[in-house]
Amino acid sequence: MNILILGAGQLARMMSLAGAPLDLNVVAYDVGSEKIIHPLTGEVHNSTLQQAIDNADAITAEFEHIPDDVLTLCCQSNKFYPGKAAIKTGGDRALEKALLDKTDVECAPYQLITEKAHLVAAVERLGKPLVIKTCQAGYDGKGQWRLKSDDQIDQIWSEMADFIASGTESAPHSIIAEKMIPFDREVSIIGARDKAGNTVIYPLTENQHTNGVLTLSVAGKEKAAIQEQAELAFNKLAQELDYVGVLAIEFFDVQGTLLVNEIAPRVHNSGHWTQQGTHCSQFENHMRAVAGLPLGSTACLRPTAMINVLGQPSIPHSVLATQDVTSHWYGKTAKPGRKMGHINVSADNLHQLGERLAALAEILPEQDYPGVADTSTQLI
Ligand code: ATP
Ligand code: MG
Ligand code: MG
Repeated sequence: MNILILGAGQLARMMSLAGAPLDLNVVAYDVGSEKIIHPLTGEVHNSTLQQAIDNADAITAEFEHIPDDVLTLCCQSNKFYPGKAAIKTGGDRALEKALLDKTDVECAPYQLITEKAHLVAAVERLGKPLVIKTCQAGYDGKGQWRLKSDDQIDQIWSEMADFIASGTESAPHSIIAEKMIPFDREVSIIGARDKAGNTVIYPLTENQHTNGVLTLSVAGKEKAAIQEQAELAFNKLAQELDYVGVLAIEFFDVQGTLLVNEIAPRVHNSGHWTQQGTHCSQFENHMRAVAGLPLGSTACLRPTAMINVLGQPSIPHSVLATQDVTSHWYGKTAKPGRKMGHINVSADNLHQLGERLAALAEILPEQDYPGVADTSTQLI
């Protein structure tokens, strides 16, 4: 079968790698260059988007910020999963919050903002501090402000007004203010739903972000009660969206209660551990779902941690020499802070995972790989 993926980054690459043993051939549409490329080699195919759509048995996406006309074209083929509505919802925080409200899934108190008076009202109603986010276009913590005192209102509003003004009629821009949640930690749930509505869900993952970017995930240490809460939210949202494929939901854990931060209608960075921690990774399950194949097992075989490699030119050999460490490199040009690859490390139990993370913390500088040493101490 032929699969077309909208977006040609590392997620498309890893979906392609997961699809190959299932005899799924992947091409990717690079939204920036508007070219059809091979997601592993970068080789450019001499075909148009329409030809790639016609040639595909199924179409999916690796990210949610896709031009509307491209989504429409793909939808017209009736081969696009998880569908335009799900992609649009994941790419617009206003739609996302409306979905959460409709399905009665709890999130941070929020207010939509289109004029300065709304910002002033949000400060009064929600209190400070606030996290203010662009509803469209943000990822990795970009397009966000932290409002801690009233004297920031003018400055933040002027930057917000610039963003709102840069929208167009077909792609309008808006802003949302959220109460800053004093969370204990961040977790995410990732699952897959097939065309018949069957779902499989991975164990919850605990995530650490540094400056808005995911730096470390650990899976295999959660209690049943919190897993159940996350699964309930997953099932409600996936059903409401009539979702097909992998869906990720990020949460704040506030004293054992989960509040949704955001959803991602795609494979997700916090699910990369599944490549070694499970029999069927999130990439394989996404490919299976969109291709109409049976879903695979999501059970955690071994506690596994994922460490993002940000801005580094390579992974030290001594890291690969550490027991049960695997490297996943994306083949991108290095830039400061850019996601270049990730490392997965597995172990027989959480204590051993802690020991392996401690060994890695000896090799990986704390400023480039934050949280590894701390997490190792907590697990040992
Ligand atoms: P992603 O790359 O995950 O899509 P993003 O740019 O969409 O990132 P968010 O996930 O909304 O951004 O926010 C990034 C991080 O900022 C969160 O993981 C969390 O650490 C922090 N954050 C966001 N919203 C809040 C909030 N309401 N209260 C407290 N912290 C928050
Ligand atoms: Mg996001
Ligand atoms: Mg996020």
